Amino acid sequence: RTGDVRAEQIPRYIRVNATCWSADEAVKTFISRGFQLSDPFMDKSFAKDEHISDLLLFPPDTQFANDPLYLEGKIIIQDKASCFPAFILLAPHSREGAVVIDATAAPGNKTSHLCALMNNKGKLFAFERDHKRFATLKTMLARARCDNVEPVNADFLTTSPSDAKFAAVSHILLDPSCSGSGIVNRLDHLLESELDNSEGSEERLQKLASFQLLMIRHAMQFPSVERIVYSTCSVHATENEHVVREALKTEECKAGKFRLAPRELVLPTWSRRGLSDELDNPDDAQSLIRCSPGEDATNGFFVSMFVRETHVPEGTD
Ligand code: SAM
Repeated sequence: RTGDVRAEQIPRYIRVNATCWSADEAVKTFISRGFQLSDPFMDKSFAKDEHISDLLLFPPDTQFANDPLYLEGKIIIQDKASCFPAFILLAPHSREGAVVIDATAAPGNKTSHLCALMNNKGKLFAFERDHKRFATLKTMLARARCDNVEPVNADFLTTSPSDAKFAAVSHILLDPSCSGSGIVNRLDHLLESELDNSEGSEERLQKLASFQLLMIRHAMQFPSVERIVYSTCSVHATENEHVVREALKTEECKAGKFRLAPRELVLPTWSRRGLSDELDNPDDAQSLIRCSPGEDATNGFFVSMFVRETHVPEGTD
């Protein structure tokens, strides 16, 4: 416990790992353990999430870290907001043939979510530059029984987009290092972010924002990429709307190669959108998702998606 009251308003979320279990089997198992399907804030109760398939909500105090289901990889402890990026990148279509990069993968919760949404088929490259965190990533992927993942202990920024190995990459997930300022739940903090939870000076945020923008621009160099999701567990506009705003000003977007995905592709039923005052075009806020700790029963989070322009520009044959 952090002593942060907002953490007590966050249910304990678990994602049923579809690579080896199903939500129906999970529901039956928890009912046989004496839980009932109703309000997750009542004792011995749980609920199904309304936005993310395979996500279950339990009372905040419920412990799963030593549960055999967790140790066997059948369930993943993952905050709801942190399930948005993979879901937005790949759902609702079947993406079995997709070639995906998770550019910043450790400890691997979003990687195993991507793998589940791909039905463990296609190809998923999981980059992690930190050696120790790479070891954790491999352990988590083995536990989650991810067979379509190739873990790569390398810096995504030094990876060549023209390498033939990546020629067919169609989707990229970018969940880069951030201030972690949205994380109010200590367990999730340990699971999600490699940084301490200090708010950080504006100078530090600016440095992070420059790096985050570089990651987006690098992702846009992959020749076949159609969709790029950029997410953070930060509540600061500097790392969120401002990074998106700057990305939209780059050659990659100005030349009409990429644009922000419209709201209908970015979890349209989620009502909290981006901060319009922090963008050059206030309408872009509709394309963005924010989660507010204390208000949304999740940690603080931000998600955006860039999509390749598919129209043929005027004047071309
Ligand atoms: N997506 C992860 C998850 O859901 O479990 C959390 C990712 S964490 C916010 C960011 C990770 O990216 C850290 O493990 C960090 O070491 C790694 N990282 C940062 N910059 C990187 C880079 N340029 N290339 C590869 N990995 C990087």
